[in-house]
Amino acid sequence: MPSYENERETALAAVRRAGRLCQTIQEAMHAPAGSDGANGAAVRQKEDRSPVTVADFGSQALICRALAEAFPDDPVVGEEDAAMLRSDDDAREQVVRSVQAVLEDDGEATAAPDDVLGWIDRGNADGAAERYWTVDPIDGTKGFVRGDQYAVALALIVDGRVEVGVLGLPNFMPVAEAVQVKGLLVAAERGEGAAGYAAYEGAEAAPTGVTASPVSDPAEARFCESVESAHTAHGAAAEVAERLGITREPLRVDSQAKYAMVARGDAEIYLRLPRGDYVENIWDHAAGMMLVEEAGGAVTDLTGKPLDFSHGPELSENRGIVATNGAFHERVIEAIRDA
Ligand code: AMP
Ligand code: MG
Repeated sequence: MPSYENERETALAAVRRAGRLCQTIQEAMHAPAGSDGANGAAVRQKEDRSPVTVADFGSQALICRALAEAFPDDPVVGEEDAAMLRSDDDAREQVVRSVQAVLEDDGEATAAPDDVLGWIDRGNADGAAERYWTVDPIDGTKGFVRGDQYAVALALIVDGRVEVGVLGLPNFMPVAEAVQVKGLLVAAERGEGAAGYAAYEGAEAAPTGVTASPVSDPAEARFCESVESAHTAHGAAAEVAERLGITREPLRVDSQAKYAMVARGDAEIYLRLPRGDYVENIWDHAAGMMLVEEAGGAVTDLTGKPLDFSHGPELSENRGIVATNGAFHERVIEAIRDA
């Protein structure tokens, strides 16, 4: 079995750095009006009318830069591309400045605007290669814009199988622990388990093992779901929860932080029940799935089928997502079928 330790370490460092850029921009966006950082101009709308921010582009630039340096032959399937920035001078300048600031901060050579746009466009691959990365530079952009939770997500896919997954969660707040430390990085490599790094900036802190909750009675479970009602059917999930005897209120959290919650035992179930014919994208699930599986949990679609990462950028063979601690996955799938 090949080792992907080098890939995991590179991904971890890239995600950690990208998260710093995002955090700086999020803090500036929510600084009091009139103060130095206040910056509502950082948000744009994409063609599908979903929001994108300066931080989405800057984060993708830093991650693709790191991957290009360490693995120059690996294609990257990223959520963003630089097309919009070529015609939007203001946004482009903000993105370039944010990337330059992080590089300068780390004592690295600065970057020209074309370098930054080129890094972002490295994320334009189609997922047809045998080995490639997939990145969501900010998963949960709506949460990011609100000032809430978001994730920087990066995964390595080889032969249609996720081998490495890293999530950066700068605003993560543990549900389970008595001591609340903001920020979390989680990295997983297939067959090697999942490791968590508490406190986002604490690069030196020793990692701790990440394991799913031991709760075996679904009625005792806590379940999590999207904040956004457009992204998941809240009503249907409530019905499933009722069938399982769950009495606790759902934990509503943006982004792949939900996978981290199941991986860590903050929750036992993550339900993503599709509305309409929405097809999920690989960058929204590859890293999170790896964490949950390596923490001892299980991830399938809502029919119980494994997620199929061999069809390019979309999970076209799957519908919805169910992640659990692994103790009663079939029971959850049955409850969905019955509901
Ligand atoms: P979450 O924060 O869990 O609600 O998920 C955020 C992700 O939902 C974004 O990255 C989008 O790609 C994705 N998304 C956008 N529209 C939909 C939709 N209609 N159904 C499910 N997911 C969606
Ligand atoms: Mg996303």
